[in-house]
Amino acid sequence: MSKEKTAGCVYLVGAGPGDPGLMTVRGMELLKRADCVVYDALSPLQVLSCCKEGCDLVDAGKRGGNHTLSQEKINELLVKKAWEHRCVVRLKGGDPFVFGRGGEEAQALQKAGIPFEIVPGVSSALAGPAYAGIPVTHRSVASQLTLVTGHEMDGKNAAAVQMDALASAPGTKVILMGMENLRELMNQLQQEGQAPETPAAVIQWATTARQRCVRGTVSTIADAVAQAGIGSPALIVIGDVVDLAEELSWRDRLPLAGRRIIVTRSREQAGRLSQLLSELGAEVISLPTLRIVPPADKRAFAEAVVNARHHDWIVFSSPNGVQKFFDAFFSVYEDLRELGGSRIAALGPGTAAELRKHGLMVDVMPKEAIAEKLIEEFDRREDDFGGLEHCSVLWVHAQQARRIIFDELTKRKAIVDECIAYDVKPADSSLATRILENGADLITFTSSSTVRHFVAMNLHLPENCRVVSMGPVTGRALQEAGIRVDLEVPLHTIENMVETICRAEKK
Ligand code: SAH
Repeated sequence: MSKEKTAGCVYLVGAGPGDPGLMTVRGMELLKRADCVVYDALSPLQVLSCCKEGCDLVDAGKRGGNHTLSQEKINELLVKKAWEHRCVVRLKGGDPFVFGRGGEEAQALQKAGIPFEIVPGVSSALAGPAYAGIPVTHRSVASQLTLVTGHEMDGKNAAAVQMDALASAPGTKVILMGMENLRELMNQLQQEGQAPETPAAVIQWATTARQRCVRGTVSTIADAVAQAGIGSPALIVIGDVVDLAEELSWRDRLPLAGRRIIVTRSREQAGRLSQLLSELGAEVISLPTLRIVPPADKRAFAEAVVNARHHDWIVFSSPNGVQKFFDAFFSVYEDLRELGGSRIAALGPGTAAELRKHGLMVDVMPKEAIAEKLIEEFDRREDDFGGLEHCSVLWVHAQQARRIIFDELTKRKAIVDECIAYDVKPADSSLATRILENGADLITFTSSSTVRHFVAMNLHLPENCRVVSMGPVTGRALQEAGIRVDLEVPLHTIENMVETICRAEKK
């Protein structure tokens, strides 16, 4: 019996104004499980890298006018995609219902009988001023906020903005989509009675590394903006609150403010690196370079996990190995004690941190995540453990890991069994290409396999983008690939990488 086909749900999700940290938890959750994502020019591209493997990514609006889909076409597309997929995310910059035409899309879905949900987002209208140090309301300065579009000021349509009412409104005014008419708008406001000396600001690319803010007054702002060469996307803020930026502009004070840094996602993951860099004010874009897939021999992997407890040592080579190992382990056992009393070694601090999440401390770990250093550490600690001779070791690693650990442990007369926990393949390059097209100040590489995958994806580095390489093995891989390294991070640790970047970027 054939089942009647039902339509999937379309989620109109606000992606926030640019900083991926301003996306909501609900939005992120949906993005991770979406089968299809329809996004447009102002959705922050980097959030798309969390989409699952095989997600149907549709660009519904390239900036600059070429390829832009008409609203009608987008509405049709959403209906079509809802019939093809279970979970369709329509990702929109800022909030979907704030000048985002989300209302029209929801109406089209309603009309077509497609279920939909709205996930509000942080609007640029509020976050933009906040990131420039301008509180849109303030108890002693402004108790009213008027939000308007700068696009509908010609009075032709019934919903058009009434300039006289706008000029006489007290408090703060925020104008979106007003850059094309900026001068005209400021003139009209003054004609309608707005005091020419009212403070005004224009904030471009708010909440991203490219954020720029120009301040002046209603009578001077158009010239100031022209002089600074600021264009769209930008928003206009008018009102006395603008002067508070003098005291409150917090973002420019951060050491990496204004830097756009691409973090190539590696086997060791890049979460911590991204977090540290963005806390220092950088705009961090995580670039997927690889996909983690199951190992070629799944049965051998499962058997190795089940029998892990019979080894004297378990050596974990990467955080991913730890994750995959315990995913498999807990699908068989319920109790961590089934692991037995094996000693545990980790290739580096990242791997040890992942083990700690499972309540396991490591017995041996080098300070840097390098196979040779792990072997040195085993040798140095020989007396503590009575050497490796006749010890059985389970080595948990990726399909194409370097053989050093196997060879060196075998040389020391250990019996090494392998547990190949996952395989690594290059990521699909289309998203990465789009991310790189937007330019960057720095790009980081933390492992040689990431370099290899980056090269395999046939990507081009943005112009003037400097390359940061962590550790000598990564450096060599870059050199072999013909990529010039601008910044060498001497130690193979994330902290050292962040330190090196901060030192180099000191203004
Ligand atoms: N739904 C969006 C607004 C869409 S209209 C929101 O809630 O933010 C597009 C306008 O929003 C742009 O013309 C610009 O005025 C403003 N805008 C969006 N993102 C911006 C950003 N990062 N910086 C400055 N202005 C932005």
